[in-house]
Amino acid sequence: MVVNTNPNMVIVGSVAFDSIETPHGKKDKLLGGSAVYSSLSASILAKPGIVGVVGDDFESKYCDFLNSKNIDTSGLIKTEGNTFNWGGKYEEDMAQAYTLHTHLNVFEKFKPTINENYKAVNYLFLANIDPVLQMSVLDQMTNLDFVLLDTMNLWIDIKKDELINVIKKVNAISVNDTEARQLSGEWNLIKAGRLLQNMGPELVLIKKGENGTIIFYKNDYFIAPAYPTTETKDPTGAGDSFAGGFLSYIAKNDGVDFDTIKKATVWGNMVASFTVEEFGVEKLKELTEDDIGKRIDEFKKMISF
Ligand code: AMP
Repeated sequence: MVVNTNPNMVIVGSVAFDSIETPHGKKDKLLGGSAVYSSLSASILAKPGIVGVVGDDFESKYCDFLNSKNIDTSGLIKTEGNTFNWGGKYEEDMAQAYTLHTHLNVFEKFKPTINENYKAVNYLFLANIDPVLQMSVLDQMTNLDFVLLDTMNLWIDIKKDELINVIKKVNAISVNDTEARQLSGEWNLIKAGRLLQNMGPELVLIKKGENGTIIFYKNDYFIAPAYPTTETKDPTGAGDSFAGGFLSYIAKNDGVDFDTIKKATVWGNMVASFTVEEFGVEKLKELTEDDIGKRIDEFKKMISF
């Protein structure tokens, strides 16, 4: 598919049609997937290129839309069959996604191939896919400065050893509180964060939904509250929006130090706070750097005393 930028960040993950039910309504065939949410969130500051697979039901309008946001889709392969379809439901508290169905379709045979245009890119987001595939991506990249990895309970349950092997090789991991506890075997999140660092990554980001994010970097840690949204319509993609926003901030500043990491965390939290205000990627369609900047100014007033 189309090449329209020279990416400075590569994202490997799912591209999906989601069917979502929340107390605010029910929608089908929403453009989603970890690579879509994270690339749209990243595209505000960076030039992401995505690696993924779609089926022949993925009409050209979807790629045109991603390209219009300066997202390079030359790593997106179209094959015969249907695009990955995930069905999820949220209860009133919106804290947890209940999977209604997972139709892997073309995603079942996904083998990420990194094209020549992407191999030497310095920033990589390994979004939630099989850890064996995440490792194969690492092996194909030639010039990495910083790798962020995301995962889910499924891989901790069925491929823990493979997941630990790939975690050893990345700079940062982004997990939610349940995954952090499950992966480390430790209930206390401060101890869990430190145990996850001991597996290899110098940076561990633990997402706590509406309770914000705790980050562990070398010997330091930092706590960033979430922006208190008044209307959460669909929490899908919040984690991927956080990760995409976070890594785009690091890529833009081209360097990793504790101060930049703290600012990137707040940036990622703010992007995610917009995502959840509407179903699917609706809110990310028109979101600008200025909108996020204004929310950060408001947030600073809220937390300073
Ligand atoms: P999150 O940011 O965690 O809310 O991720 C939401 C996205 O994850 C949805 O758009 C789904 O399409 C995608 N997703 C759900 N299950 C899987 C899976 N098993 N593998 C990859 N992506 C998934």
